[in-house]
Amino acid sequence: MRNILEFRQVDYSYHSMDGEVPALENITFSVGEKEFLVIVGPSGCGKSTLLDLIFGLISPECGEIAGDRDSIGYMLQKDHLFGWRTIEKNILLGLEIQHKLNAETRAYATELLQKYGLYDFRNKRPSELSGGMRQRAALIRTLVTKPQLLLLDEPFSALDYQTRLNVADDIGSIIRREEKSAILVTHDLSEAISMGDRILILSARPGTVVRTIDLTFDPALSSIERRETDEFKHYFSDLWKEMNQLVP
Ligand code: ADP
Ligand code: MG
Repeated sequence: MRNILEFRQVDYSYHSMDGEVPALENITFSVGEKEFLVIVGPSGCGKSTLLDLIFGLISPECGEIAGDRDSIGYMLQKDHLFGWRTIEKNILLGLEIQHKLNAETRAYATELLQKYGLYDFRNKRPSELSGGMRQRAALIRTLVTKPQLLLLDEPFSALDYQTRLNVADDIGSIIRREEKSAILVTHDLSEAISMGDRILILSARPGTVVRTIDLTFDPALSSIERRETDEFKHYFSDLWKEMNQLVP
């Protein structure tokens, strides 16, 4: 498997009036093509900082990050759809901003809208859609720019539990179907196990890599189906113990 992103001994600190806040320390890991990596760790351990580093919003103080910056899509916590724009206009926004809106990219946007059941909703406003449909629209807006790697920072945290399970299943299956690599940040351990190929565990701040766990499931299973398996329970108790050691 070819790596599309590599971190080599990356450090990052925030500098404020009160001094230096070390956020991440000696971070080394990689993400392969079509791999789904999930990052878990205690609140404030530097997970969002790590995604900002990957996206290039901030630069490492030490170490190296290798990967194609132009091929990354970032999906944030809230769906960030603009209420006054239609679903279609929201989806085209990323292309507009990148000056890539043309006949070809517009056709690809239409193709994705059709493929993922949003075409009939294209002229609706975000408020007329369910939370799940809005997340799907936000994902499509990210996909139209054809990123290789998707960054998802706790994208389901605003949803209620029942919706969250279904939306995570939906978003995960679209990402796999489109053959993208993904990095998902979550503090929901079940979500991590149900969606990922591999879990990277970070320690409390400054975040360091504690361990990675490879997840092996039947590839035919959806993330909801994974939750019913014995492997799931085994990974959950392993991860649960590890996380409890991190938070005193
Ligand atoms: P996480 O996403 O894991 O909850 P963050 O990456 O947001 O953590 O933050 C890591 C640490 O860095 C936290 O302790 C946070 O308070 C601190 N931090 C985040 N942003 C800033 C900033 N702009 N200035 C100073 N400290 C910050
Ligand atoms: Mg965060």
